[in-house]
Amino acid sequence: MSTRIKIAGLTKTFGRSENRVKAVDDIALVIEPGEIFFLLGPSGCGKTTLLRMIAGFIEPTSGTIHFNDRDITKLNPNKRNAGMVFQSYALWPHMTALENVAFGLKVRKLPKAERTKRAVAALEDVQLAHLADRKPGEFSGGQQQRVALARALVIRPEVLLLDEPLSNLDARLRNDLRDEIRRICKSSGITTVYVTHDQKEALSVADRIAVMRDGKVVQAGSPMELYRHPTTAFAASFLGETNLLAGIAVSGGATGSIMGVTTAAGILQGTLAGDIAEGQAVRVSIRPEALRADSTGIISGKVESTTYLGDVAHHLVATDGGGALHVSEFAPGPRSAFQGQVRLAAKPADVVILAD
Ligand code: ATP
Repeated sequence: MSTRIKIAGLTKTFGRSENRVKAVDDIALVIEPGEIFFLLGPSGCGKTTLLRMIAGFIEPTSGTIHFNDRDITKLNPNKRNAGMVFQSYALWPHMTALENVAFGLKVRKLPKAERTKRAVAALEDVQLAHLADRKPGEFSGGQQQRVALARALVIRPEVLLLDEPLSNLDARLRNDLRDEIRRICKSSGITTVYVTHDQKEALSVADRIAVMRDGKVVQAGSPMELYRHPTTAFAASFLGETNLLAGIAVSGGATGSIMGVTTAAGILQGTLAGDIAEGQAVRVSIRPEALRADSTGIISGKVESTTYLGDVAHHLVATDGGGALHVSEFAPGPRSAFQGQVRLAAKPADVVILAD
């Protein structure tokens, strides 16, 4: 049976009086059994503190954490049955990969034959069984992180906690290993909490993501929900590139309705991310790939610069009303419409009107 993690009113305050920092501020979350859940946010937003409270390394100031019906808020880390993977691998240098992986089973006093059998199986899961006798110094960074993953999984934990596991690796290895981590977590069905500040990692691996800022969860949802329907300018700009335009709501409306916003680029039709009153100051988020060249488009401007990258070209368009828009054009060819003066349009579903 897989584990549901329930976090309620969780707060952590560090320091005293004027040096007090609320690293985690009254967070409530439910992470479903078997889910790969990401905590994503800029440096200092509290994601590591939250993960470490789930692991048991940091005691909450208030609030509770449950694994299914079990209240683990005050339990020692070794009683929580959570496997942890750190950025720094934290492998024993003098032990072979097999011994490193089997170590947690030795501590749990399993018989030797059983330890070896399970450690070999865990190394098979991360595709390193053939190198079981090597020591960490003889592995690449990516291989060391695979050993660390096997070591966390071999104890058959209820939850897997990953703290920026890929940030020491180069870009190529990061891509390979993130697919691998998703495959392993999904095939074992283990509930996983994964901390990162890398939005691509979150978008590509997560079932759901919580975007954090100043100790709070700003928004939680699937990668596509968050990318397509951000509710704040912070979430819109933290997850992917976006154009943010200041505007005034032409009329009032409820979340999800389509309405006009007066901006420097013209009156744009967009979808409301929250309830809005007529005349309210808003911001409009339009992803670069949502803008297309269209002779009937509302927005007119001049292509200021183009960066050609083969599969995509990035254009910077200075709008006639002032300001600039980033536009992505896929499969750009020699007859691209993005030359000189251009008109732009976007579907109302891709124009998000933000109240904040
Ligand atoms: P990063 O990506 O840089 O690791 P983070 O989002 O994981 O950042 P945390 O490490 O959780 O953020 O820190 C949140 C806030 O709490 C920061 O302001 C940090 O300085 C503060 N903080 C964290 N640990 C401690 C501590 N032991 N003592 C005092 N303040 C702390």
